[in-house]
This record gives sequence, structure tokens and C-alpha cells, in this order.
Amino acid sequence: MIQIYIPLNFLGVIYREIKQNLVDLDKMFTLMDRPQEVQDRPDATALTDLATPTVRFENVRFAYEAERPILHGLSFEIPAGKTVAVVGPSGAGKSTLSRLLYRFYDVQEGRITIAGQDIRQVTQASLRRAIGIVPQDTVLFNDSIAFNIAYGRTDASQEEIEQAARAAHIHNFIAAQPQGYATTVGERGLKLSGGEKQRVAIARTLLKDPPILIFDEATSALDSANERAIQAELRAAAQGKTTLVIAHRLSTVVDAHEILVLDAGQIVERGNHQQLLALNGRYASMWALQQQST
Ligand code: ATP
Repeated sequence: MIQIYIPLNFLGVIYREIKQNLVDLDKMFTLMDRPQEVQDRPDATALTDLATPTVRFENVRFAYEAERPILHGLSFEIPAGKTVAVVGPSGAGKSTLSRLLYRFYDVQEGRITIAGQDIRQVTQASLRRAIGIVPQDTVLFNDSIAFNIAYGRTDASQEEIEQAARAAHIHNFIAAQPQGYATTVGERGLKLSGGEKQRVAIARTLLKDPPILIFDEATSALDSANERAIQAELRAAAQGKTTLVIAHRLSTVVDAHEILVLDAGQIVERGNHQQLLALNGRYASMWALQQQST
């Protein structure tokens, strides 16, 4: 009989390797803010009626950890083709709204609907096709910049990729690289600045052309010329789309159909810019503060 002799410390190495890989996987999911438990229901159907859908949050309650509720029964509607902006202090739960709409997590109470369909009843693939996200911090793949732009629409032609890059004002930057659109970006390639990465995300979203947009504004300040340019690009991209803007700077929200002031998971004020200024409350003082600092 052949005996296979495996030293115990070797098993230890394997165990550590496996454990480390699981930790890495776990880190990856955390990084992507994607819990592993959200799955399609067996009877899930594809989202329909997506021409210009209305998005509704109905009495949404949510906690990442049972003992610490984050959202306490939020209700609001983003009418078809309009923009709703969410503002409020750090930790209020603003980005959580975008994670719930993209269904990285399921709500614990209430529901979120798109064109009247509960997002828990539809396939994740159809949900994610319908939504374009420009996140706070775009993670780029270690691949060509063309691949990174076309990520949401792998069938896009070079011409379409370039058109999206032009609209996002990143084309000139790409064209100036020796390898142009074939330039490798990401951790192991050309490192892009925060603003450049956001432009790649905008180009990606323009190319995907989904009916619903989520803009999760970067917290890290861009220089103001860059910021104004990116805001203009975002505004153009949002034309006629149902859009949720998670805003860290109030200048972004002035034109929104409705602004929600979120604090500790509750809507404490709501209205358009003029109405909220007239209310002379939280929003008005945030606005006054921001005017002073610019
Ligand atoms: P900021 O303006 O700083 O981006 P925010 O209003 O977008 O803040 P969220 O990111 O929605 O805030 O976070 C709301 C709360 O949920 C915070 O207290 C945060 O610590 C907590 N939180 C966020 N993500 C997780 C997570 N994956 N697990 C546990 N708690 C989380």
C-alpha cells in the first residue's frame, strides 16, 4: 500500500492559504459592497416597462446589522425622467439608498419599486442592466481603458466607445497616451486621478445608456474647475433619465426635482431648492455654510 505522507505543517500551510483566500474573497465582497446572500427568487422575472420608469421607496427600513438600524421608514418617489437628490451629514444613510436600489442588500421592511415592480421579484441581471452607477470611487479593471469604458456594454464599437469618452471629456487624455485606448489602467497599469476615474465611470454609464442613473458623488474634493466640469457632464447624462443623486456638495442639487435632507436615517426636510431655502431650516443653513466656504 502506498502511504501518502503529508507533514502536518504542510496541512497548516494549505489551511492558511485557503483561509487567506476566503478572507480575500470576503474583502472583495466588502470592497464591492456586495453581500453574498442576495439571490434571484426562483420565480424572478425580468424588469419590464423601462422606457422612463418611476422609482419608489415605500416605507423602507434597513440595517446592515440587526442591532443598528440605519434607515427608519423612508418613503419617496423619483418621478419618471426626474432627478431626486439626497443630502445630509456623513453617516446619515445616503449611500445606503443607492446600495439598496442596486440591490446589493435587501430592505428589511417596506419595498423599492421600479415601474411598479418590487425589485426583489425581478432578476438581478435585468435590474443591473436598467441602472447605471457613477460611484464615489470607481474601481478600474487591470485592462485597457477601452475595456473599462465598454464594461457595461461589451458589444460596443470603438467608435461608440470614443463617442462616450468625448462626452465625458476623457477622450483627449486617452488619445494623448502612447497606446491610446489600448493603454492598461488600474492597479497594475496607468494610475488615474480621482477625476479621471470618475470620467471613465461617466463614459461607461453614457455608453450603457440605462433608463435609471445613480450618481454617488465623490466625497474627496476635486479641484473646483474639474468639479464643475464633471457636474456639467453628469447633468447632461441625467437628461430625461430617472436619477438619484447622492450629493456631498449642494451645488449639484440646485436643479433637482426634489431634495431630501437625510439625518440619521430619516428625512428631516424635503422640497426643491427654493422651497427649502424658504423653510429656513437645515438645508438653508447648510447652503449658507457652503456659500461662505466657496
Ligand atoms: P457619507 O456622506 O460619509 O458617504 P452616508 O450618508 O452616505 O455617508 P452611508 O454610507 O449610507 O452614509 O452609511 C450609513 C451608516 O451605515 C454609517 O453609520 C455606516 O457606518 C454604516 N454602514 C455603511 N456600510 C456598512 C456596512 N457594509 N456594514 C455595516 N455598517 C455599514
